[in-house]
Parts: sequence; C-alpha cells; structure tokens
Amino acid sequence: MTNVAIVGAGPYGLSVAAHLEGAGIPFRIFGHPMDSWLRHMPKGMMLKSDGFASDIYDPQNEFPLKKFCAEQGIAYSDMGIPVRLETFSAYGLAFQQRMVPGLEDKMVTDLELAPEGYRLTLEGGETLPARKVVLAVGITHFEYLPACLSRLPSEYVSHTYRHSDLEPLHSRKVVVVGGGASALDLAGLLHENGGDVTLVARAKALKFHNPPTGKPPSLWQSIVHPKSGLGPGMRSRFFANAPGVFYYLPESLRLKVVRRALGPSGGYFIKDKVVGRLPCLLGFDIKAADVKNGKVVLQLQSENGENKEIQAEHIIAATGYKVDIERLKFIRPEIRSSVKTLQGSPVLSSSFESSVPGLYFVGVSAANSFGPVMRFAFGAGFAAQTVSRALARASSQMRAMDQSPAMANTTK
Ligand SMILES: Cc1cc2nc3c(=O)[nH]c(=O)nc-3n(C[C@H](O)[C@H](O)[C@H](O)COP(=O)(O)OP(=O)(O)OC[C@H]3O[C@@H](n4cnc5c(N)ncnc54)[C@H](O)[C@@H]3O)c2cc1C
Repeated sequence: MTNVAIVGAGPYGLSVAAHLEGAGIPFRIFGHPMDSWLRHMPKGMMLKSDGFASDIYDPQNEFPLKKFCAEQGIAYSDMGIPVRLETFSAYGLAFQQRMVPGLEDKMVTDLELAPEGYRLTLEGGETLPARKVVLAVGITHFEYLPACLSRLPSEYVSHTYRHSDLEPLHSRKVVVVGGGASALDLAGLLHENGGDVTLVARAKALKFHNPPTGKPPSLWQSIVHPKSGLGPGMRSRFFANAPGVFYYLPESLRLKVVRRALGPSGGYFIKDKVVGRLPCLLGFDIKAADVKNGKVVLQLQSENGENKEIQAEHIIAATGYKVDIERLKFIRPEIRSSVKTLQGSPVLSSSFESSVPGLYFVGVSAANSFGPVMRFAFGAGFAAQTVSRALARASSQMRAMDQSPAMANTTK
C-alpha cells in the first residue's frame, strides 16, 4: 500500500515529494522529470521570474537555484541576471536526483477509486493502491486554442506547448497569435534565427517588464514597490507571500483577480528581439481562419472595423492554458464528475484537498483558490508545505486508529 502517490514531476510535484521525504511520509512519485520545461518551452527562452523566485523547494532550503548555479559555475543573481530555460531545466533534474532519487519516470495512465482509496495504473501496466493522491500535472493537458483555430487541420496550426526545438519552423512562413510572454518569446526567437514570422495580437500595445536599473531601490521605492516573487508592487507581494490569506477572499474577488492579475507581458530581455524587428499586427482579432491552396488564410478585424487578410504556412497559437479537469482523461470519469469545480478548476480546501477525499491538486489547478502565485514555481513552496502538513496529520490519525485497542479488537 502506497501512502501517497504524487502524479507529475515538475517544480510542484518535486517540491511536494521533497517535503514528504522530510516529514517521513512514505510516497511514490511518477512522471517524466521537468517535462514541461525540457520539451514544451522554446529552446533559448529566458525565465521571466527572477533568480530568487525560481527555486524548487525542500523543507530546509538545502538546494536552491543559487546553490546549483554556484556548483556549476553559472552566473547567478537574485535579481538582474535572467535565468536561462536550460539552466532551470538542468537545476530541476539535479534537484530530482539529489532530493527525490526514488522518482519513477513513468506516466500514470489510469486513476480509479478503490477500497483503499485509489488505484493507479502506470505505463507498462503496473498497478498500485494508494491512500492519497497529489495531482501535480501543471500546465500539461490544458493547452487552449480559440475555436476559430481549433477547427484547422493540425498540420496548419499548433499550440506553443508543442514547440521546443524551433529549427523545423525556420524555413516556414509562420504567424504567432497572442501578445503574452509565450508569443513574444517564440516570435522573437524565431525571428532571431532567420524565421519568417508575423505576430498578431488583440492587444493594441505590447507590454514588457521593466529592465533592472542596476541601482539599489530607494527606501521609498522599496516601500511603495516592494520586491516579490511575482515582480515588484504591493499587490504582487500580497499574491506571492500570502496565498493562505488570498484563499479566504470572497470567491468572486478571487476569480476576478486570477483572471486579471499579472496580465500578458514579455520579459524585458525579449523586447529588443521583437519591437521594430518583426511585423506585429496589434489590435486585431481573428474573425476567420481557412486553408486555401496549402496556406492558412486569416481574416483579421480591428476594433474600429479595419479588415486585413494575411497568409501563412503555419499558425502557432500562443493562447495560453485553461484549467479544465475534464481534460485529465487518465482520471476515471466517476472521479472527475465527483470533484466539485468552479469554471473547470477544482474547488479546494485550505490544504489543497478536493471535494473527493484524499485527492489533492497543486499548481495552476489551484490558482482559483490560492491565487496567481500558483501559476508560478514560486508558489510551490507554500503548496508543498501545506500539503505535506495535511498529509502528516492524516498519517498520524491513521496510525493512531491502527493502534487503538478498539481497532486492534476488530482486526482480531
Ligand atoms: C512559455 C512559458 C514560460 C514560463 N515561464 C515561467 C517563469 O519564468 N517562471 C515560473 O515560475 N513559471 C513560468 N511558467 C509557468 C510554469 O509552467 C509553472 O511555473 C510550472 O511549470 C509549474 O510547475 P508544475 O510542477 O505545476 O507543472 P509542470 O512543470 O507543467 O509539471 C507537470 C508535470 O506533470 C507531468 N504529468 C502530467 N500528467 C501526468 C501523468 N498522467 N502521469 C505522470 N506525470 C504527469 C508532466 O509530464 C509534467 O512533467 C511558464 C510557462 C510557460 C508555458
């Protein structure tokens, strides 16, 4: 009997595992380590989050990114030196090997209810019972394509999630749809490598983070715009440091904040690769998309009625991710339909447990409950601490029940 099964080995799954290890709670963890970062983000990308906000968490903070970089001779600063995707991915793998050596590099193909709690089936066919399950599946399964693009045949359209190596796109005429970091990173990197790329965005202007000034902030600036794991500012500081308080805000306010906070914007380091470098059609919505003579034809319309038609060999939708637990097909329908949801996301207790007892969700699936920090690695520390404490309590209750005279009598 496995006490806890963790599904997913990105920053959240690994942080939860390291905390369970620290608390002495037996667990098994499954998944390809750091898969989203290794295979589903564009090579050459830089993280938007600062160095100090890009840790994976163990209970004693023994192995932060800073330590990994020092060991590897990689330039690091808490703020001011962007973290390369390759550095963060390698750090995640090193964290896994050091802190979570028992990871089983297999996908979970089936999750069903069982008398003991749950039964998981792994790639290869092994099945195992588990009392509790922590779902740390991150952004995987949740790529979102607007309806007008989702109708196109797959050779003409793909989501950014499908692109890591951009080489095959260099020889094609590509349109990137979106105005957020994913769109800007992909378009900028493609253009830098000689690709023929046009950006189409609904936003009338592109937004980028401010570059570091290189000077320490004044006392006034650090009061009014305090630094935080989600960027500077009071609101970001609250979202980053107080997800447990955010949880108790009224539901409608939480949903509004999660929808609007930290809107689309690129890292300051990508600005020079995009602005003035590649064609950007801003303020345009896609009205129709069709394939004609082997090309995709996009009909665009601006707010003031201006129409444009553009053609491309391939469209890349940088249109983000939408949590919808119905898309977690490896979970049996009877479990999915029993999880109470709000706008597709699970409704969670203050310890990340869903309405199905013993089933926990961490990461972006928990954003409606704990706020925008759950969309970032920075939220993994809070999630891992909270879930491991709850599971430690549940474990000790279970042990107490097993050892109670009444239970002993019933088992005789
Ligand atoms: C282009 C891009 C840039 C980003 N930049 C940043 C940034 O700068 N800073 C930041 O903090 N965040 C950034 N993010 C957000 C980032 O995705 C999250 O911070 C982070 O991935 C959350 O970690 P996670 O463990 O929840 O999810 P993930 O890293 O997505 O990991 C989930 C894991 O679950 C596994 N999994 C899924 N289903 C199964 C299954 N059935 N069985 C076993 N395993 C399974 C997957 O293989 C995957 O490895 C970015 C996202 C994108 C798309």
